[in-house]
Formats: sequence, C-alpha cells, structure tokens
Amino acid sequence: RLEVRNLVRRFEGRAVVDDVSLTIEPGNVTCLLGPSGCGKSTTLRMIAGVDMQDSGSIHVDGTLVCDTVFRIPPERRAIGLMFQDFALFPHLSVGENVAFGLKGAGSAKKARATELLDRVGLGHFIDEYPHQLSGGEQQRVALARALAPRPRIMLMDEPFSGLDNRLRDGIRDETLAVLKEEGASVLLVTHEPEEAMRMADEIALMRGGKIVQRGAPYNIYNAPADKAAVAFFSDIN
Ligand code: ATP
Ligand code: MG
Repeated sequence: RLEVRNLVRRFEGRAVVDDVSLTIEPGNVTCLLGPSGCGKSTTLRMIAGVDMQDSGSIHVDGTLVCDTVFRIPPERRAIGLMFQDFALFPHLSVGENVAFGLKGAGSAKKARATELLDRVGLGHFIDEYPHQLSGGEQQRVALARALAPRPRIMLMDEPFSGLDNRLRDGIRDETLAVLKEEGASVLLVTHEPEEAMRMADEIALMRGGKIVQRGAPYNIYNAPADKAAVAFFSDIN
C-alpha cells in the first residue's frame, strides 16, 4: 500500500509538485494523467527516491519511507521502476537481465526469472540476447525484470510510449494482467486519456502540480471536473 501525503517539490521557487496526496491499495492501478510539464515524472522520482521533496511524506505498507528528515535510499524501497527508456543490458541474456536485481542462490534466481518470463510469454527467449527481440518483446522483458524482486510498489512512467500502435493495446492488456497477478500497488504515468481509461482502477488528473480530480475512469470520463478536463478527454470516444 502506497501512501503519499502532501508532497511538494519546488524548482527555483516554483512549486512543480504542489501538495500531492495519493493512496494506492495492493493490486490496484492508479493512472496519473495530465499534460506535459504538469509534474508527473517529478512525483514519481520522489516516490522512487531519486529526488527529494521539499515537504510531505511517503509510506509503504504503513512504514515511513521518506519525509523531510528521514529517508530510506532508493535501492531499499521495494519499489519497481519502469520508464519509457527501459534499456535492457545488451551484454546480458534475457534471463540474466530479469535476474539482475535478485539476491540469493543462482538456482532460485533462475527459477524466478523463468517464472516471470513464462508469465509474459517469453520463456523460450531466456538464453537469447536483447537485440534478438522486437521492441514489444523487450518491453515485456523489462516488465519481468521490474517485477522479479516482488516490489510492493510499481512505478511506470509512460512505459508504452516507445511502442507502435499495433503492439500497444496487446501489451497494455498483458502488462495489466501480470501486474494484477503480482499484486503490487501500481502508479502509472501517462498523458494519454485512452491509456488511463484502459488500465486504471482509479485516475488522478493532474495539472499545474496539483491533482484536480480523482476517481474511477468511468466517473471521470462522464463527469470531468472542469473545462480543461473535458477538453482533455474530448479526443477519445
Ligand atoms: P511530460 O509529460 O512532458 O513528461 P511531466 O508531467 O512528467 O511532463 P515533469 O518532468 O515532472 O513533467 O516536470 C514538471 C516541471 O518541472 C516542468 O516545468 C519541468 O521543466 C520542471 N522541472 C523538472 N525537473 C526539473 C529540474 N531538475 N530543475 C528545474 N526544473 C525542473
Ligand atoms: Mg514526464
């Protein structure tokens, strides 16, 4: 369970993230949806621990992860990351890529890598190398790699934007199924309303550093809070 309370981040005096609060239950996907520059990636970076907030706090499963005086480093946060630039290690096999962040015996790591690769439908690629895979396949390997250490929280920043339209819908659905099975709390950033409608249990509409509306996709689509939200949704049907 991810709880973000009153996060603020200023750059040169300007609040780029301005009092953002969010709670995401295990197994739920919240889409942070908003236009370019509204503060989505900055929010994710603070949760991941690679940027530090000016005020506010972050808790995972009731444990304080970070506030303005205390801070658990990124590698100890049980948070999985998946960004648009998901770069696999080119010199490692697919199986080694997935096992990379795991600790413990080699056999256990291999078993976990195999399990996840099977789940994303790529078990037969375990000994291949990333360059032998298509973009969509590489994306699924990146998903398997992010999920391998069983993160409690999964942060995804426009993970599908590098894929062509033909592949994207299928991979979105597959990704969602795997995320649900793993049961992490998922925060997925997108600027595409269609993606949020397809994947979210809850949408948080963000603008100018603030969350301006939160709710089930259907409710937000049918009752957008204001004109800007209406305009934002007007290009999907
Ligand atoms: P996009 O959809 O284009 O990725 P975003 O919602 O992810 O946009 P952010 O990357 O969070 O937006 O940036 C929000 C604002 O903060 C932008 O105006 C950006 O220029 C500013 N910003 C981000 N990082 C820094 C930084 N390190 N120093 C100064 N300004 C920054
Ligand atoms: Mg961004």
